[in-house]
Amino acid sequence: MFSKLQKYKKNLTFDSHSNPRFFMKFSEIIGQEKIKKQLIQTVKNNRVSHAQLFFGPEGAGKLALAVAYAQYINCENKTESDSCGQCSSCLKYEKLIHPDLHFFFPVSKTKKVKESEKPLSDMFMGEWRELLTENDCYISSAEWYQKIDIEKKQSIINAADCAKIIEKFKYKAFEAEYIVVIIWMAEKIFHAAAPKILKIIEEPPEKTLFILISGDQDKILPTILSRTQLVKIPKVPDEELINSIKSSYNYTDEEIENAVFLAEGNYKTALKLIEESENENFYFVKFQELMRLCFTRDLIKINAYISEITKLNREQLKSFFQYALHITRNCLLINYNGIENVKLSKEEKNFLVKFSPFINSANGIQFAEEFEKALFHIERNAYAPLLFMDLSLTISKLLKISPSA
Ligand SMILES: [Zn+2]
Repeated sequence: MFSKLQKYKKNLTFDSHSNPRFFMKFSEIIGQEKIKKQLIQTVKNNRVSHAQLFFGPEGAGKLALAVAYAQYINCENKTESDSCGQCSSCLKYEKLIHPDLHFFFPVSKTKKVKESEKPLSDMFMGEWRELLTENDCYISSAEWYQKIDIEKKQSIINAADCAKIIEKFKYKAFEAEYIVVIIWMAEKIFHAAAPKILKIIEEPPEKTLFILISGDQDKILPTILSRTQLVKIPKVPDEELINSIKSSYNYTDEEIENAVFLAEGNYKTALKLIEESENENFYFVKFQELMRLCFTRDLIKINAYISEITKLNREQLKSFFQYALHITRNCLLINYNGIENVKLSKEEKNFLVKFSPFINSANGIQFAEEFEKALFHIERNAYAPLLFMDLSLTISKLLKISPSA
């Protein structure tokens, strides 16, 4: 019954530690066929430009393309159109642990950084790998900041990290053909440290590849901009997003199309929107069920309902009560102004045409207070089954109150 909240991606494989595995092959990336061809061609023609800036909107797959490109360059058995996914280089890329692949990204002081230390990208490599593998390299800046628990404004690629970047090029590659350094959110490079990096971009050692990634070209230092080859990554067309999500997830066509329409080419946003609408629909079904049970006062069924719904985690229960408040407000709006102007789905409207008289001017405030109280207590770790039983009994009484009473 609760599987709706736990939809997993189709075909996700797990390794022995049950961490999600991913192969960042070109074929895994959504759309961007033109860019993929262009990048592959540079390898075939032996014209890999040593400093490139991948620039484009969030959700277009800049980081995924950068990793796939680096993996392809270093693959020992590459094909015409992709890396093999099986050679020793690909296997290390798969876990993002290749010794010749380096990442730099904005960081800040957190609890894990000692008072005397400067925060470095290396210190957060565990979190970085985790976030990337969980999300097939489609990550947003907000997700990164949340992952390492920092605020946006503080984060920077600092001078100490810039020195580290240069250090990576001091030695020959351990195993790979190319040393690859990927700098994510290059606009966050500490400006005063940039000259050091410029020098290495201008006189790069053999077989090195710098990929800078940015969604904000205006904030990148012009001196860096003028020394890198710009690779413009466009947003993914809706049609391609739809097909890709259809092939990987068990959602309905309508859900996918609605979400993609709103997501403006952002793959991650589209997925998030689908999830939200799925959840909303689930809470709607559970809300109707609770109201019916409370109306009939069937204690055995109420008990069964409670033991099911309290399997949800606390965050989900909070969302359920928030949803109940949202419906309560809309019932009152319908009572006062009719159903025409409320913003609800067709199914919700169909239900509320009949149900809204039950939450009315005589009991509406009490309904809202009860759901708010439940929300308050669930946030403070109240015992959920007891809370639901209490709530159900109160709702049973409230449902019997009509405005004329
Ligand atoms: Zn390979």
